[in-house]
Amino acid sequence: MTNRLYYDSSEMHEFDSVVEDVAPPSPEQSRPSVILRETAFYPTSGGQVHDTGWLTLDGGDRLRVTEVADGEDGRVVHYLEAPARLPLAGAAVHGSIDPERRRDHMQQHSGQHVLSSAFMELYQMPTVSFHMGEDYCSIDLATPFVSSEQIAGAEKRANQIVFENRPVLIRYVSRAEAEKLGLRKLPPEERDELRLVEVAEFDVSACGGTHVSASGQIGSILLRKTEKVRQGTRVEFVCGDRAVRMARRDYSALSEAAALFSAQLWDVPDQIRKSVEESKLLRKQKDDALDQLAELMALAALQNQPETNGRKIIARAFSDRDIGFAKLFAQKVTRAGTPAIALVASTVDPPGLVFAQTSAQASGGAPGSTADMGALLKQVLSTIGGRGGGSRDFAQGGVPAGSNLEQLLQQAAGTIGA
Ligand SMILES: [Zn+2]
Repeated sequence: MTNRLYYDSSEMHEFDSVVEDVAPPSPEQSRPSVILRETAFYPTSGGQVHDTGWLTLDGGDRLRVTEVADGEDGRVVHYLEAPARLPLAGAAVHGSIDPERRRDHMQQHSGQHVLSSAFMELYQMPTVSFHMGEDYCSIDLATPFVSSEQIAGAEKRANQIVFENRPVLIRYVSRAEAEKLGLRKLPPEERDELRLVEVAEFDVSACGGTHVSASGQIGSILLRKTEKVRQGTRVEFVCGDRAVRMARRDYSALSEAAALFSAQLWDVPDQIRKSVEESKLLRKQKDDALDQLAELMALAALQNQPETNGRKIIARAFSDRDIGFAKLFAQKVTRAGTPAIALVASTVDPPGLVFAQTSAQASGGAPGSTADMGALLKQVLSTIGGRGGGSRDFAQGGVPAGSNLEQLLQQAAGTIGA
């Protein structure tokens, strides 16, 4: 069982110890690891992630500690960056913990205790789990819903406790004593002695984590988004330096958006709303204009084209309009009131063909409906390796880039006897 120095001091970043056991890399575990007689390194547990740091040997060799975990029999396992020249059991080592990472974890974990207690005090919402991630932390509250007013309320109350700079005390009590104290949360396993973390006159929890010594060190608590999860509602939050960094990142993004609109930060949502409305309107105006253009072009083409066998055949390849417009043009040609066949192409990427004819219904059984557009398209595409298909009255397909579309349209017109 490793003696855990962090239980009594979260501020201890340097310590001396002795190597008790060494495990070289194995097929199951590629990293070597060491067990020490005592350690100030915190192993991942209780929602808090592990410390990182260095072990310095007597000869001056430094070993990088990349992960720390709870092992069997209460031992703390220090995983080392491989490859490393490993010490022998019994060797003296000096441990150094990365202080910034430790401070960050203290701020997040103590902030979590305060926040969980605020949710409990104000809204009777118990915390059922805590997660500390690389960027943000989260707690899961046993409640189906948390309103934005409750988020703001809990954030305000938690920060009030931070500003009051209340002492955060560690003490050990028996389980029987702990049960009398009304802890926010009792650990499930049977232990004779419990380590209590107490934010003076606000929260008492049984916890093995590293904590600040006064609530002011948490710095600030910023709540972020909420999300429905299986066991209730997840609330994301950041404390201390993370809160400042995240606010800085948000500010930069918002400033950039405001500069694009030449607006103040708080006007950005309004500007975006206006801009979305504007682009909707413009899209509608553009669609209407294209519809009118296609109609006028279709009427002009029909007017200039003499009838062949009781129908008009319009063949047209667009080099400046996309396949969407080609389709629109074909529809206008075939729905203008006279039996017609439209053989239309667009060379704009992706190039394609649209074949359409006035339906038998619309042309009153006139000869305009005697061809089969789907079959005609398939026949034309088969000569160049394009893909597509359709019905008797309308067919559409894509062609390989660089195909001679004018020639394909002539070929199609020839097939139906233009
Ligand atoms: Zn805790």
